[in-house]
Amino acid sequence: MPEVKCEVASCYYWAQGNHCAAEFIEVANTRTHRGGMEVGRLGNQAYATTSQETCCATFTPKEHGPKENVRRQDAHR
Ligand code: SF4
Repeated sequence: MPEVKCEVASCYYWAQGNHCAAEFIEVANTRTHRGGMEVGRLGNQAYATTSQETCCATFTPKEHGPKENVRRQDAHR
């Protein structure tokens, strides 16, 4: 998987330096959720609490731990 830079620090898979440590991610089609508006970022997503507040369907809050089928690829948390 290519390196993914991400600023959603509230995500379980987020790593220092704005890296994503998930073994894979699923990115939602925001066109279906935002009425066709092209959106790069709305507000401060560093404090997102649900995947719908990000463009990433793999998002899961830090306190919830990993998703059932997605492992973290690093050991330093
Ligand atoms: S899983 Fe998605 S929201 Fe979480 S760090 Fe990776 S890219 Fe960001």
